[in-house]
Amino acid sequence: MIHCCQAPKMSLEFSSMAKDVDMNKVVRQHLEMEQFFSGFALKGAVEGLESPEQEDKPVPSEVEGMAVAQKAAELEKIAEEVRQCRQCDLGSLRTNAVPGEGNPDARIMFIGEAPGADEDAQGRPFVGRAGQLLDKVIEACGLKRGDVFIGNILKCRPPDNRDPRAEEIISCLPYLQRQIEIIEPEIIVALGAHAARTLLNTTKSIGQLRGHFHEYYAGIGRPPIKLMATYHTAYLLRNYSPENRRRVWEDMKKVLAELGLPVPES
Ligand code: URA
Repeated sequence: MIHCCQAPKMSLEFSSMAKDVDMNKVVRQHLEMEQFFSGFALKGAVEGLESPEQEDKPVPSEVEGMAVAQKAAELEKIAEEVRQCRQCDLGSLRTNAVPGEGNPDARIMFIGEAPGADEDAQGRPFVGRAGQLLDKVIEACGLKRGDVFIGNILKCRPPDNRDPRAEEIISCLPYLQRQIEIIEPEIIVALGAHAARTLLNTTKSIGQLRGHFHEYYAGIGRPPIKLMATYHTAYLLRNYSPENRRRVWEDMKKVLAELGLPVPES
């Protein structure tokens, strides 16, 4: 599993990029990255996206009324099923399940790999260091965390943040598929290789998949949903380079352009 807090156990494609750690360099790079993603934050709400008052708790829009409230209710039903789930061994190992959270009517869904220690402790997705960087990326896009929906392929933390196993993905994926069906986002952003490969049913590397739109098959009779794959924020934290940071930003600018939202310069 790609998680910023874990010991340096990396999936094969990333292990060749491992470097000796110079703490000063790491701190400087992380500060630089935080500044980079903070610098583009647009002030005020973006037209075309509801901006709930509270950043973290989505507020159903009054205009959409029932439809959004109904989506919220359906999502809560799934969340409750996830909290009760014992379909794989992870169910007995977790502190909290992490069903996902955000705007039930989101135009963008961010999908990560699986909860880590912080998420397991709080029952909320992307609340650790990788989550804080994701928040910065979202803000750099001129959006708030509450505008989007954030979820994971697996809803429970694998022990020691190991990679998800096939049988775990098979048990858990239907929850995410149902969440996507309800939210009907215009764009899915798959964070990292595990999310991208699972949703696109491919074995290609994240390097090959990122940077352009793919189609997520949303089921019979449903239009495909555009999917942008990009590097996981935990990967960015662990493999900092201006190039990787810029790649994520270029990917996000394509997402904004596709949605007709303002695209920050540079
Ligand atoms: N990494 C993930 O893939 N998901 C989380 O929720 C947190 C870290």
